[in-house]
Amino acid sequence: MKLAEGEIVQLIDSKGKRYQIKLKRGATFFFHRGVVEHDRLIGQQPGSWVKSSLGEPLLVLKPTLADFILKAKRGAQVIYPKDIGAILMLADIFPGARVLEAGTGSGALTLALLRAVGEEGRVISYEVRKEFLEIARWNIEEFLGLLPQNLILREKDIYQGIEEEDREIDRMVLDLPEPWRVVEHAREALKPGGIFVAYNPTILQIFKLARIAEKVGGFYQVGVYEMLMRSWRTEQRVLRPELRMVAHTGFIYVARRIRKTAPDLA
Ligand code: SAH
Repeated sequence: MKLAEGEIVQLIDSKGKRYQIKLKRGATFFFHRGVVEHDRLIGQQPGSWVKSSLGEPLLVLKPTLADFILKAKRGAQVIYPKDIGAILMLADIFPGARVLEAGTGSGALTLALLRAVGEEGRVISYEVRKEFLEIARWNIEEFLGLLPQNLILREKDIYQGIEEEDREIDRMVLDLPEPWRVVEHAREALKPGGIFVAYNPTILQIFKLARIAEKVGGFYQVGVYEMLMRSWRTEQRVLRPELRMVAHTGFIYVARRIRKTAPDLA
């Protein structure tokens, strides 16, 4: 698989600094250690090296989804890859699943959901702000090279309800400020046994959501989680955690759609 025009490429310098560019014939990549003509990158294999005009070696790779997300165009704050990884597992996103997401934001989670559901699955994503939907569209198209057929983007306030045709969903993933306002709609739209996940930066939001889900009924709370990822320095004589880490992003609430009342087991 050789690198072609239009592809996104990651360049890593000797300090480990990463750059992301989109290959275009005739274009030039500039950085503090010289320049590289895109034409020299087109046709290379990922994993190869190039030298800049000032002799700096650069490693040439295709960015991973996590790399891309961290450099994606931002409207709304994206969910960090460490949390996206956990969400995919906790929400049990499987190939062929029908998933409803809100809000779309910058489309970072949307991209991960699309991957996990595969071509047989479907991602329906609600976003109330037009300008964010535009950014999400841009990011998705930039990474995938197209807007996939199995993605439905709706400019819509999910607090007002879920469209008839968007129901019968397997999994629902929320990243918006007042998830408790979606609980009743989620109860209508989720298939029996379906999974409801909400991601929020403060535990007060999760607490209110949990209380309302309990009051509304039809949900079994699986758990509330937070993910901490600590990276390490691994050098010749240094083998220890990095001094700094992202200490807080958000909490993940997980529940399953169940029958409202337990049967009489007597
Ligand atoms: N998960 C996204 C970021 C979402 S940020 C990502 O990874 O890129 C939260 C988004 O929810 C914002 O874009 C906001 O406009 C949207 N939002 C807030 N309330 C909403 C509602 N009622 N219906 C739909 N979208 C909503």
